[in-house]
Amino acid sequence: MTAGEKHLIVLLGYPLRHSLSPLIHNASFEAQELPFEYRLDSVEPENLAEEIARLKELPFVGANITVPHKTAVLDFLDVSSEVVQAVGAANTLVWNRSSNGGTLLGENTDVGGFLHTLRHHPRSVSGPCLILGAGGAARAVAFGLIDSSPAETVVVAARDRKRAEELVKSLSEHDADSRLHAMDINDEKTRVVARDASLIVNATPAGMYPNVEQLPWQWVEDFHEGQLVYDLIYNPAETLFLKAARESGAETMGGLDMLVEQAALSYLMWTDIPIDRPAVDRALSANDFP
Ligand code: NAP
Repeated sequence: MTAGEKHLIVLLGYPLRHSLSPLIHNASFEAQELPFEYRLDSVEPENLAEEIARLKELPFVGANITVPHKTAVLDFLDVSSEVVQAVGAANTLVWNRSSNGGTLLGENTDVGGFLHTLRHHPRSVSGPCLILGAGGAARAVAFGLIDSSPAETVVVAARDRKRAEELVKSLSEHDADSRLHAMDINDEKTRVVARDASLIVNATPAGMYPNVEQLPWQWVEDFHEGQLVYDLIYNPAETLFLKAARESGAETMGGLDMLVEQAALSYLMWTDIPIDRPAVDRALSANDFP
């Protein structure tokens, strides 16, 4: 690195719309006076290999990975954590440079970030849980729940039931008690599961800005007191789904805390220093969602 140059961290995704990650990380780098810079890096899937090779020639130290590269990036890893191997997706890269090249490590901090927010919520999760969606975030949540929570059963419900079944099958090695099940999101039987669930997680993008009128679930009026309804979406802070759940008496949680927790875990891996939470909180509260 030359004098004045900064260590580079990027968010690899495509297409990259508005992201809070640069704001979170750069606020902490500045507050701690660390010579790091976090930038967006919009890369089409066919150019991912070339981009990772290019980054390794720069003062690159790591990355966050988002849709659609979270699984594809596994092909470029030299080392992957147990969580990455279980979930089949990475959201964090760490590039450890060495005299004979370097090692690219993959981690998935979505799992730890999600579990952290649940553990710090006053409502403890014990009974049945329902996850809406069967993509990368649903997989991280499902693994977290079966691996590290006392959830009795975990149902993954998707509009494409086959995709939910594949998710369940891919985690079967970690599901010794067969707590994980797949269902159709529009089936009346799934409605019954939702009524009994202690935790319902929206892991679909339905309701995310700019599609704020969308609902991932058609029976929102069934939510009730004693349930925790969690939306992984953080923009808007309260989705239509969460608003309906709150109005039906359920407790609610949006995705911003998880975003910050997964960021904090990644930050520690890149810098060996805990993220500056007051600086992050100040930056987030000064930020207007689009
Ligand atoms: P993904 O891999 O694209 O998966 C999305 C899933 O949602 C798929 O199963 C998809 O079903 C389903 N889906 C999409 N639109 C739907 C609709 N209108 N109704 C019902 N199901 C629908 O995306 P992802 O990476 O899992 O991300 C999902 C959400 O989690 C995003 O909003 C993302 O921002 C959020 N997230 C938040 C955090 C955080 O830190 N807070 C972290 C990760 C992700 P099909 O297969 O049928 O299309």
